Amino acid sequence: MRLYDTLSRSLVELPPPPGPIRMYFCGPTVYARAHIGNARPFVVGMWLRSWLRSRGYDAQLVHNITDINDKIYDAAPGASAQLAADATGWYLEDTGGLGLGMPDHLPKATDSVPQIVAFIEELITRGNAYESGGDVYFSVDSYPEYGQLSRQRPDQVEQGEEPSSLKRDPRDFALWKTNKPATEDTSWDSPWGRGRPGWHIECSVMAEEIYGPAFEIHGGGLDLVFPHHENEVAQSRALGHPFASIWTHNGMLQFTGDKMSKSAGNVTTIREAIDTWGREVILVFFLTASWRKPIDFSDETMLQAASQWAGFQGAFRVARAEPGPAEWTRFEQALEDDFNTPEALAVMHDWRSSGYWALLDKGLRTFGLELPTMAGTGIEAERLRDERDAARRAKDWARADELRDAIRGLGYDVVDESSGSRLVPL
Ligand SMILES: [Zn+2]
Repeated sequence: MRLYDTLSRSLVELPPPPGPIRMYFCGPTVYARAHIGNARPFVVGMWLRSWLRSRGYDAQLVHNITDINDKIYDAAPGASAQLAADATGWYLEDTGGLGLGMPDHLPKATDSVPQIVAFIEELITRGNAYESGGDVYFSVDSYPEYGQLSRQRPDQVEQGEEPSSLKRDPRDFALWKTNKPATEDTSWDSPWGRGRPGWHIECSVMAEEIYGPAFEIHGGGLDLVFPHHENEVAQSRALGHPFASIWTHNGMLQFTGDKMSKSAGNVTTIREAIDTWGREVILVFFLTASWRKPIDFSDETMLQAASQWAGFQGAFRVARAEPGPAEWTRFEQALEDDFNTPEALAVMHDWRSSGYWALLDKGLRTFGLELPTMAGTGIEAERLRDERDAARRAKDWARADELRDAIRGLGYDVVDESSGSRLVPL
């Protein structure tokens, strides 16, 4: 199994099963209902975990909740903690609605402040950070490898933070921010006074709290490469911790198409997308593009996904056939090669048009989809159909009629054609 790694800009082979494969995928800042684009790293992380487990790996996924952030203070002056708690609940509810299960751990920044303070103290002791006016900054100059992940020259880096006269160097970034009572209604004790952690430090600390100083995969949206992940690497590796060995960055979701569109144009949140299209269509939509390429969200692309899903649901219209032994290998090969879901989707369409019902069901289950009638009643109906064919060959018409009634009881009818019989859903 190989995956594209942003740090080395190459496909990297995973260690053989059982691994472990410990994954940390950056999660949402909780201040509103999550955008449909936020669903992508969640979906990719959950699919990868599911696939790796099916391949015999000990795979885990950590997905953090950023519940300390300027966006939360801005959205709910005086009530930021309540909004963060509410929005965390919404996120869990909405991603839960995708039907993929939940990550192994969902750590929150607010639960990790003492560990964050300890981590920052160690950076100060080692000379990689300094206190200034109640803030603490990471000294970019103290870490010569800075810029490796995003391939920037260290002397040209701009953090995108507000300029601050407290910084020794404009490239430095905040690890701890002193409390501003006028706009920030939460704060924690620290050796530098009341304040709160910066954003980047929480992920270094929470990943290492759960996995220790080294783990296999760090994921998140492509927009996090810089500054967020660049700063995470700097913080952890400055302390001599190996941190993540592979960096997987998913492509961004883009809104395209007709601005007047009636449905997709009004859909911005995961919740609205599930209500409008259903979870299955959203999952098929995400399958249509490679995880690291951009994906266009529009009426057109969602209608295409809906039509693909309808096609899978009608799989029983094609008579069941026995797949050759290499069919599953095709599917495996697609996913082992950088988790190529468009290719896996194409293989599943082949299976659909070839009548490989059970294989199709198994493939769909990899992605949290299933054809419920196929696995249970569909296969039973198929068995009864074979029995009925035998009764007809034996000219036992009474038995054949009985069997047809039994098949109808399972929601199918039998169509007799010159080439043989086939099942159709009632
Ligand atoms: Zn993060």
